[in-house]
Amino acid sequence: MSNLQSIIDASRRIVCFTGAGFSTASGIPDFRGEHGLYAGEWEGLTPEMILSQSFFYLHPEKFFAFYRSHMLFPDARPNAAHEALHRLEQAGKLRGIVTQNIDGLHRRAGNRLVYEVHGSVWENYCLDCNAFYGLEKVLRSEGIPRCERCGGVVKPWVVLYGEAPDKYTCMGACREISNCDTLIVAGTSLSVEPAASMLEYFHGKHLVVVNAEPTPADARASLVIRGDVAEVFGNLTV
Ligand code: NAD
Ligand code: ZN
Repeated sequence: MSNLQSIIDASRRIVCFTGAGFSTASGIPDFRGEHGLYAGEWEGLTPEMILSQSFFYLHPEKFFAFYRSHMLFPDARPNAAHEALHRLEQAGKLRGIVTQNIDGLHRRAGNRLVYEVHGSVWENYCLDCNAFYGLEKVLRSEGIPRCERCGGVVKPWVVLYGEAPDKYTCMGACREISNCDTLIVAGTSLSVEPAASMLEYFHGKHLVVVNAEPTPADARASLVIRGDVAEVFGNLTV
């Protein structure tokens, strides 16, 4: 029995805090991992610059070109790690997922208690009349997606760099983290704020980190697993 298995077996209120590394096994590249988007060349820009609030308003056509080709994976399916979290929720052990991911894969896996602190590509809103659009709106349009009712710009419900995350989503996420007995941090470099600082709300028994590379939380974790999330979670018996 692995240490993670025994911690999970002994826990009653688990929260999992996930990042882009949780979805790489589903074919979605992360930013800072081995094959992440940071390794690419984007005309001298970083993905963070392009996915920023100011870039969105100054160069919306370029924003959507990058966003469509690098951030949208409508055919991606949950991997073994997402499926394990679904089983943990069904077993009544997992009290919530706090995710920085915008791919919607935790919901697709069936989890209900998901705090998407950076939003989701599956939701899009008109900036003028607030009309809702699904992902198809962005996928099936060219250039800047426009509202069918009023012609306004349709913006993904994705928190861009320089934008504040939704207050109520963050409050819910922090409440779950402060109430859990075990917090599992997985597939994240913990370098994006304010999400990374949410870990400060944890006062439970076991902080577990599962990541391919070192993270700032390793020093205070009771268990650090340097490995592949899909393998580690996929091997759990729930
Ligand atoms: P990050 O790219 O900064 O860090 C990912 C971490 O996961 C790295 O440390 C990497 O070594 C590790 N990793 C990658 N694959 C792994 C695997 N299979 N097993 C174990 N570890 C693995 O990602 P972040 O910390 O989430 O921050 C990036 C920001 O970009 C987030 O705000 C997120 O919203 C956004 N983003 C989201 C997606 C997505 O929705 N899938 C993809 C790319 C970026
Ligand atoms: Zn509109």
